[in-house]
Amino acid sequence: MGSNTVVVPFVDLSFQHQPLQAQIDQAMHGVLQRGDFILGASVAEFEAAFAAVCQVQYGVGVACGTDAIALGLRACGITIGDEVILPANTFIATLIGVVQTGATPILVDCDPQTALIDLKAVERAITAKTKAVIPVHLYGQMVSPSHLFELASTYDLLMFEDAAQAHMAEREGYRAGSVGTAAAFSFYPSKNLGAVGDGGMVVTQDEPIAQSLRSMRNYGAVRKYIHTEYGVNSRLDTVQAAVLQVKLPHLAAWNQQRYEVAQHYDALLKPYAAKGIFPLENHSDRGHVYHLYVVRLAEAGLPDRQALQQDLANQGIQTGIHYPVPCHLQPAFQYLGYGVGDFPYTEALADQILSLPMFPGMTLEQVHQVVAALARAIGMPQPDFPKPDLLNEAG
Ligand SMILES: *Cc1c(COP(=O)(O)O)cnc(C)c1O
Repeated sequence: MGSNTVVVPFVDLSFQHQPLQAQIDQAMHGVLQRGDFILGASVAEFEAAFAAVCQVQYGVGVACGTDAIALGLRACGITIGDEVILPANTFIATLIGVVQTGATPILVDCDPQTALIDLKAVERAITAKTKAVIPVHLYGQMVSPSHLFELASTYDLLMFEDAAQAHMAEREGYRAGSVGTAAAFSFYPSKNLGAVGDGGMVVTQDEPIAQSLRSMRNYGAVRKYIHTEYGVNSRLDTVQAAVLQVKLPHLAAWNQQRYEVAQHYDALLKPYAAKGIFPLENHSDRGHVYHLYVVRLAEAGLPDRQALQQDLANQGIQTGIHYPVPCHLQPAFQYLGYGVGDFPYTEALADQILSLPMFPGMTLEQVHQVVAALARAIGMPQPDFPKPDLLNEAG
């Protein structure tokens, strides 16, 4: 098979967009006709709808997830001199959001089985200056709400969720976005709920925080041309909100499909544990929304990761690494003073992880193709699959 033939793409958004094409066209056309491009009707409507889905009162749409973190933290009162604890094992935007507030980021290691922030490490990192902790609900799995509540009350700290990969994720009866004082979401196109461009939102139960954000995202204006605080230009575009409104009612079903794909992977990959391939652990049952499906390649005897990825690519299977270089080892953040060896679990994961294709609408046949290619790449006999069938017949 030639290396240019894609058999299973890493992500395929066409399954989401094709059935909704007419509705999306109509929504975009509506914005064009009304001309309410900035903070138009769809923005407030989508803010209310998405906040309700998060089981909180307020949503404030911003330009992207990174701004949702930066502005959200500022609205919570985080500023220069404060320390904010976050995992080293996250997408760089979490760290960028903290740095933008002027606060000092304090990184901690992760749990090697789930890749989520290690809350024991958080406790050890707390000082008199610590104001907030950012649990990142990485890959679609929430950090334990009960542990976060306990941490918040024991140390009098603010919890600010980075839920950019966890739209509608649940754990212990709580939904992502409803646990912290506020939470940030991203609507980057490939997120579980994606726009057709950039977008983000802060959700919160706290009215003054929501008010402050509405002003902060709009040049710090309380009303036109009256600026009571330092603000920026970071609004969710009306056209993006209009598209997101069309897509939101389908989010639960899409997450369900991701979950089913993950169940199939889990079952089919069981025999590969003997070869050193371990899916990351799910501690939240059906509440995991599998933004990504990540395995650890944890044993000598496997081909090295780059060779394995290349072999899979030659078989038409696209994979990813989320993320190859941890935050604390990024050149831009050397000034924070961290180095190799500071966060051993994070560093080990960066070397070992591989993300397999995962998207709503992925068929069981595609899952089989991924697993069969993996078997070939590591010299295992071809698995004996049940007969191929469409995993998601009802779009
Ligand atoms: C995507 C993402 C962000 C940033 O969102 P953008 O919309 O791309 O700015 C922040 N944190 C995490 C964990 C993300 O995955």
